[in-house]
Amino acid sequence: CVANQRAHAGLNALIAPLQRSEEWLSRVRQADIRRENKSPKSRLDGRLVTIKDNICTRDFPTTCGSGILDKYSSPFNATVVEQLEKGGAIIAGKTNLDEFGMGSHSVHSRFGPVKNQHPRHGRDVSAGGSSGGSAVAVATDQCYAALGTDTGGSVRLPAAYTGTVGFKPSYGLISRWGVVAYANSLDTVGILGKDTSSVRAVFDNKPSKRLMKKIADVVNRHDPRDPTNLSPSSRSRILSSLDSPQFASRLASRPLKIGFPKEYNVSELTPAVRRAWMLALSHLRKQGHTIHPVSVPATKSALSAYYVIAPAEASSNLAKYDGVRYGTRAEGPDGEGRTDGYLYGKTRGQGFGDEVKRRVLLGTFSLSADAIDNYFLQAQRIRRLVVHDFNAVFNLSHPLADTSIQNGPESENAQREVQRADVDVLVCPTAPSAPPFLDSLLGGSASSPLDAYVNDIFTVPASLAGLPAISVPISLPDPQSQDPEMIGIQVIGQYGDDELVLKVGGLLE
Ligand code: GLN
Repeated sequence: CVANQRAHAGLNALIAPLQRSEEWLSRVRQADIRRENKSPKSRLDGRLVTIKDNICTRDFPTTCGSGILDKYSSPFNATVVEQLEKGGAIIAGKTNLDEFGMGSHSVHSRFGPVKNQHPRHGRDVSAGGSSGGSAVAVATDQCYAALGTDTGGSVRLPAAYTGTVGFKPSYGLISRWGVVAYANSLDTVGILGKDTSSVRAVFDNKPSKRLMKKIADVVNRHDPRDPTNLSPSSRSRILSSLDSPQFASRLASRPLKIGFPKEYNVSELTPAVRRAWMLALSHLRKQGHTIHPVSVPATKSALSAYYVIAPAEASSNLAKYDGVRYGTRAEGPDGEGRTDGYLYGKTRGQGFGDEVKRRVLLGTFSLSADAIDNYFLQAQRIRRLVVHDFNAVFNLSHPLADTSIQNGPESENAQREVQRADVDVLVCPTAPSAPPFLDSLLGGSASSPLDAYVNDIFTVPASLAGLPAISVPISLPDPQSQDPEMIGIQVIGQYGDDELVLKVGGLLE
């Protein structure tokens, strides 16, 4: 891993690479000894894991890829980092990202863009974002696995573009304490690995006989310090809803009902993406599972709703970076006797990049008294429709939903004909096309921010509904090249059905 970090430094995946200190070496040695003695702390013991730079680490700076936090080092570890270290993992650096997680191509970083490890026709292409650094670090063996964050697709899209596996668990399963907030109602910590088995090792290290139930979970654990983290009682409600023979058997051998969401079959899909999708479905069919077309009509509006809700929450979250309480203060007079917001304006003007400023302006606008009805509240309505559509297609009911509300005559839903289906999971593409060229993304006026937003069209619906989703690479033989083309295919499951999503992801490998 250390040699690979050096060899691939040009891809700009790591902002802060591994430091080979005495302490680090002794941790590696101790893990080696534990493994030799057949008593590892977990499957992660001694493995190198990199962390997206919006997750706090004591041993490395935490900048969020932003000028406003360029001098920030956290005095504590995020809970997830603490949990990884408890499982024996060794933190091997911080990864590059779009500033505060806002972007789809990892180009909006103070540290410059991340490059995909596979250029196309000699040109650099996007690594996906915003966890592009984590994805490239995994793809190029600079670490065993990586943590990212997924608010609207930031783990799944980079996974799809780099040929890795990216998993976004159900909202609230993994602690967000120490994770810098972008949009709280959507933010989740996600995991990137080369395969589903390495993702599982980080997420939910089910005790094997060999490990003698020493550490059951790694990051999928309750954390009382994060108020949005699922309580033990909610966790047991989820487990008991999955415990019935009907649902438990899906993890063993029962043939699965796979949903084919019609609304994802848009004309903008490139032929390669469509081929990969069909290949994935036929692969599942050959294994005895059945395919069922289903409809999730609100998907069409999900992207617009997301790009209202996420910036609105971001504008509120980022208000604290004022150069007084948080953030690097701009040089100059400290505003004494001035009433024009000089310090605040200058600090934020210099500290934030253009995309973050755009989101803050958008969010502030949609929350303003004149606009809130037409934008923010409408977006929340669409969000409820998206949740409703998903609930209508899965055979498992939402384990935490209040059934009286779920089935009640909600005015928005009453007017819509939503066909009921009963599938176990949905399988669809992660992104509509292959990664775009980096120079076209960085070409100033040539590309509009909206072009980048469109890449999230297939990932945001699961985010709005808080559902677990995984992107796995499907390899398509490319007649023009020796290397097969890798296309990301996404599996989405009902809330809490993370195990099944991981299982179906594994079936596609
Ligand atoms: N591309 C999306 C955005 O810019 C998603 C980002 C994310 O999931 N962090 O908001």
